[in-house]
Amino acid sequence: MNIHEYQAKQLFRHNEIPVPKGQLASSPLEAEFVYRRLKSPVAVVKAQIHAGGRGKAGGVKLVRSPEECFQAAKGMLGTTLVTHQTGPEGKKVHQVYIEAGSEIAKEYYLALLLDRETANIAVMFSTSGGMDIEEVADKTPEKIITVQIDPTLGLKDHLLRSLAFRAQLPEVETQQLMVWVEKLYRMFLKYDFSMLEINPLIVTKKNEMFALDGKMAFDDNALYRHPDIESMRDLKEEDEREIEASKLGLSYIGLDGNIGCMVNGAGLAMATMDIIQYAGGHPANFLDVGGGATEEMVRHAFRIILQDTKVKAIFVNIFGGIMKCDIIANGIVGASKDLKLHVPLVVRLEGTNVNEGKKILRESGLNILTADDMGDGARKVVEAAKK
Ligand code: GDP
Ligand code: MN
Repeated sequence: MNIHEYQAKQLFRHNEIPVPKGQLASSPLEAEFVYRRLKSPVAVVKAQIHAGGRGKAGGVKLVRSPEECFQAAKGMLGTTLVTHQTGPEGKKVHQVYIEAGSEIAKEYYLALLLDRETANIAVMFSTSGGMDIEEVADKTPEKIITVQIDPTLGLKDHLLRSLAFRAQLPEVETQQLMVWVEKLYRMFLKYDFSMLEINPLIVTKKNEMFALDGKMAFDDNALYRHPDIESMRDLKEEDEREIEASKLGLSYIGLDGNIGCMVNGAGLAMATMDIIQYAGGHPANFLDVGGGATEEMVRHAFRIILQDTKVKAIFVNIFGGIMKCDIIANGIVGASKDLKLHVPLVVRLEGTNVNEGKKILRESGLNILTADDMGDGARKVVEAAKK
């Protein structure tokens, strides 16, 4: 789960990470009042969406009067902001955050993230922070310095010293950065983050550090331990199909390809994605209907898959263990008829009552391609999606 910048800044404040003064607004008039209350000649109006790259897309504006603040907020609220992180469809701006302007002397980059390869928490730092960290990573990767925190040993001073040394930070900044990373590391563990990014982390002309931006991602599996964090969820920022699926008890994750997948069991679902790629195709989604899914669930699953206009063919790959093949077959036939299925459907069934299941599919009168095994099914569906 991700949260907005203004929420990340609330958490920073609670955990004594310095952030500029600021407040949220949902209308231009409210924005103007916030500006007046801030009593800072220069303020920054920032579009609140779950994506970075706002600066370059017109989602961050400096303002110097109540009128300018009103106009900047008016220009952002209700519009769809397209940044290099939103995808071409962009994200609608429902709220803006107005904060006191800062006198920036330097812009740094700091992130903590779960490094799955090393099973550590990695700290990444760069003195080339600001708006173009992707470009820095691409063109001058040596400017991004990484140290690994082994969670069984904890955070050791020498790691941070070496980080600051490699970044050639002056001593006064080294001291501050060490304190920051210690606090952020504690936050990381306390809230079960998967990623925490500050870009830019600024140093002012008075040598003070502030977090000017904040991006936080939380481990969904640990959310039950943090009701306060979960309450920050903004469903408007999430994929509608994913939300609907999770309400129905289905695990659905939208992907970029054009082959809709309906599978039971997460392991089989993963294997199905792999075998589709192996056959030269691209899955449109990950969908696990669960081990004990009912006919009703199969219908819901179909409906969710078909809401995705990218889908050119569907691959149903089900092992009937707890769930019997004839029940699944009935679900497939019923759903295909109800939803007036308009894309090719490839079905691979195996397990309990498989022959009854296949018979139901054959006798349905629907144009269903059956497959003998996963490989066969993947090849057939990739072929069908091309047509
Ligand atoms: P992002 O582009 O979505 O990552 O949005 P950021 O919050 O990082 O803002 C983009 C850029 O706007 C920053 O890198 C800063 O250069 C600039 N910016 C943000 N706040 C201020 C501020 O208070 N004063 C000044 N001068 N620039 C700011
Ligand atoms: Mn940023």
